[in-house]
Amino acid sequence: MENVVSDFDQIDGILKVLSECTDEFLYIYDIKKNLFKITERAKDVFLFDDTNVYDADREILQYVYPEDRKLLADSLWDIVIGKTDKHNLEYRWLDKQGNPIWISCRGSVLYDQDGSARYLLGRISELGRRNKIDSITGLYRESSLRDDIIGMDQTKEIKGFLLLIGVDNLKDINEKYGKDAGDEILSYTSECVKESAKGIGKVYRMDGDEIMVLCESYDTMEGDPAKELYDDIRERVDEYILKSGYQIFYTISGGSVFFDKKSAGDIEMIEKAGFSLREAKRQGKNACVRYSQERYDEYLRKLDMQEELRKAINNNFDGFEMYYQPIVNIEKRCILGAEALIRWNNEKFGRVSPGAFIPLLEESGLIIPVGRWIIKTAMEQCKKWQAVIPEFRVNINLSFVQLNKSDVIKDIDNCMEQLNFKVENVLFEVTESGELESDNLMQNVFRSFKMRKLNLAIDDFGTGYSNLRYIKEMMFDLVKIDQSFIRNIKESRYDYMVVKQFTELAHSLNLKVCYEGVETNDDFECVLGLKPDYIQGFYFARPVPVAEFEANYLGRQCVL
Ligand code: C2E
Ligand code: CA
Ligand code: CA
Repeated sequence: MENVVSDFDQIDGILKVLSECTDEFLYIYDIKKNLFKITERAKDVFLFDDTNVYDADREILQYVYPEDRKLLADSLWDIVIGKTDKHNLEYRWLDKQGNPIWISCRGSVLYDQDGSARYLLGRISELGRRNKIDSITGLYRESSLRDDIIGMDQTKEIKGFLLLIGVDNLKDINEKYGKDAGDEILSYTSECVKESAKGIGKVYRMDGDEIMVLCESYDTMEGDPAKELYDDIRERVDEYILKSGYQIFYTISGGSVFFDKKSAGDIEMIEKAGFSLREAKRQGKNACVRYSQERYDEYLRKLDMQEELRKAINNNFDGFEMYYQPIVNIEKRCILGAEALIRWNNEKFGRVSPGAFIPLLEESGLIIPVGRWIIKTAMEQCKKWQAVIPEFRVNINLSFVQLNKSDVIKDIDNCMEQLNFKVENVLFEVTESGELESDNLMQNVFRSFKMRKLNLAIDDFGTGYSNLRYIKEMMFDLVKIDQSFIRNIKESRYDYMVVKQFTELAHSLNLKVCYEGVETNDDFECVLGLKPDYIQGFYFARPVPVAEFEANYLGRQCVL
């Protein structure tokens, strides 16, 4: 036996001297007599009372965070029965307020003459507090959630959930009221979550200012316990807002994911809760959404498609192609020009409709390079066709992202100059949308169009926010009435009247009117009496590739 000593006081004396030389806490544990002593300073930090020497079994365990008591007792038992002579454990003690503090405890055994374990000597450092607890909110850190999920015991029956809570529009709040207000809201929200989650689960502060609750068991047979927890948190938040006299108003959203024995331990649950929270925000915020596998698969597919789009763009716009759909001038009964409509054909996804991929381009900002390519490609094409029909006009769609976030006018100027293009040969279509940023910005953009005498159309008129002011202020030259009105025009008196009124209103303001979605002869006969200037629809022609357009429409300009 190497480490053989006998005197508790003697060792204690040495530890006292040594403890002056370190920030860590030194301890001695008399295994036989069940006594424990630790550096005096520990009493300032942890829950210990003022006694000098503690009864290890009874008292020490009281100062240990309840969930960790068994862990500690088991580890000490291994020493008592001689299974090991080293102690090395990370667990939690309680601080003066009763909050858990992570500690790292290491120690070595000293033996008695008879070879039995007599003392455990070692040090305790407060490393846990730094690692696992967020210093601002006092909540567990994200890393600790990962450990807890990985450590889930999948041999037992488990039924639990994760609920992720996020403050809606926190970025706007920070911008509008300052970072301090944002921090206060966050810290108050954490308090609400903590209160509501008491007895239900552990609370973690996630990177990115979100708060997660992990509940490892619930007993409700019916209903949604995560939603109930969310509702409870929301009530607390609402009380706070009420108390503040509506000085600050904010809402919270929640995303939940449930797990059982099989799915426990899977770190991907965190992603899934995050996905559900984003779904809640997408659906208008101030709500709680439960994880759905189908929606998640759809989302992954979208990410995948976005990646393919990115690759295609980097690969010189591989698979993108412009189609052209004739637009017919009703008075002259001939083709006035065409709308340029983008198509995308991809090896993995096949032919994808623009309704599916354009939103992805918009979300990722990729519509900006693609939009630039569309403007260039469509104008170059139009220039060629002007050799056959000098007044040929191409209609180009502009996305709100291009208008809000890029210098689209500069792109247009560049193309016009390079191609020596005349303004009357191009028209830009803009969908009326709530997503067009502030009126001011838009007015400025539209003014730049007008200063250059560029033609503008309001697309899908009647479906969006119908900002009549733009029309009143003569920002536009053409109104394209949305297909949804034309679709039912034969059956619906209402739709017929709306189209009639829109057309008259536009004409009275000197704007041209185009009807979209005229598909059949009946449609055509029905709308003719309403005197649209132009018609675009399958009745005359579908959007077609360049070669087909040249073969079928360019040579025979007059279609009626
Ligand atoms: P949009 O600008 O309203 O384009 C008209 C859409 O109606 C086209 O669909 C066209 O094929 C379709 N259409 C035309 N006539 C008829 C008809 O008689 N019946 C029916 N049922 N449909 C008809 P497409 O090409 O699938 O485009 C869908 C939307 O995608 C476009 O709606 C536009 O918002 C967007 N988009 C297409 N190409 C571009 C583009 O180059 N740039 C931008 N920013 N958006 C584009
Ligand atoms: Ca359009
Ligand atoms: Ca349209």
